[in-house]
Amino acid sequence: MRIEKAERIKKLPPYLFAEIDRLKEELKAKGVDVINLGVGDPDLPTPPHIIESLEKAARDPANHQYPSYSGTGEFRGSVARWYKKRFGVDLDPCTEVLTLIGSKEGIAHFPLAFINPGDLALVPAPAYPVYHVATMFAGGESYFMPLVKENGFLPDLDAIPEDIARRAKVMFLNYPNNPTGAVAERGFFEKVVTYAKRHGIIVCHDAAYTEMGMNGYKPMSFMEIPGAREVGIEFHSLSKTYNMTGWRLGFAVGNNELISGLGQVKSNVDSGAFNAIQAAGVTALDGDQSCVAVMQSIYAERFAVLVGGLRDAGLEPYVPKATFYLWCPAPKGMNSKEFASLLLREAGIVTTPGSGFGAPGEGYIRMALTVSRERIAEAVERIRKLGL
Ligand SMILES: *Cc1c(COP(=O)(O)O)cnc(C)c1O
Repeated sequence: MRIEKAERIKKLPPYLFAEIDRLKEELKAKGVDVINLGVGDPDLPTPPHIIESLEKAARDPANHQYPSYSGTGEFRGSVARWYKKRFGVDLDPCTEVLTLIGSKEGIAHFPLAFINPGDLALVPAPAYPVYHVATMFAGGESYFMPLVKENGFLPDLDAIPEDIARRAKVMFLNYPNNPTGAVAERGFFEKVVTYAKRHGIIVCHDAAYTEMGMNGYKPMSFMEIPGAREVGIEFHSLSKTYNMTGWRLGFAVGNNELISGLGQVKSNVDSGAFNAIQAAGVTALDGDQSCVAVMQSIYAERFAVLVGGLRDAGLEPYVPKATFYLWCPAPKGMNSKEFASLLLREAGIVTTPGSGFGAPGEGYIRMALTVSRERIAEAVERIRKLGL
């Protein structure tokens, strides 16, 4: 029998990191001490009080059965309390909060609820690849909004052609931003609400990094903006805030029709997040937040070492206020892939070529600060020796 993959799989963008991965494995096999700044996965452990909470909840037989589709009332309640405490936003835990099996799951399923074949989504570039791929899986098309330095890595809404704006059904945004580290302020979000209302566009804001501000900077929620709830949904994750990437727990909040549409897709696809993990999520959100402050200061220290070191080496990284990513232009005359493979071959450092996040990311590399300060200092030393 001839096995034929579906068109949507055949149309997936090529795996741009394949070459870097191959080179990395080759160097490791040769015994090179590789420093991996390529992955956005925290190296720090989940705080102990959250783990203890899971241990306890895992022993309760009531948690061994199918969870409810929309999430436990306790977890949705703690999300609402956390939003009030952190952003001053009131949410109805029954209709405006939905538990997700990680925010990626929710983002990936969202277009199935709101995008028809041929519909258009406004997608930033460079960006987390899920927005475009999920749009494509739903039969939609992406219109890419370039994020460039001159504009603070925010999309220029006035530059979107009128006919595109008229056709667009959804706009994806992500601040604090992966991969650039850029943040959005109130004025930009206000413009987005006005724009979305004028053109009847749903705003899908990925807020995975709001708790990753450094040196006292507190990123805001899109939901703080008057009118945001009429047009938008916001995706959150416990992955980065509490070093819980492996646990798979996130949530969506916002407009009740957007939440219920996403819930309808999910109830036909999955059966919810493990109740014991949601119990641990309650502990994370309701508990002492000093673990978040500790994490923020660890990343700030790492940034200081990396930014200082790269500048000494003659590079000009974009200094972010939040996230754990450093977006760094390649030296003159080199493109993203060339710079990333030079760092890998000559210094044993894995980074991600910016072009992998979309064409406007060309000319940059992304470094993830998910290794210790000592390893970052070692990386800096190796880069200095390259004499760029
Ligand atoms: C890490 C990340 C997420 C979070 O994904 P989870 O599925 O919650 O682990 C979402 N969006 C972006 C842009 C990310 O970098």
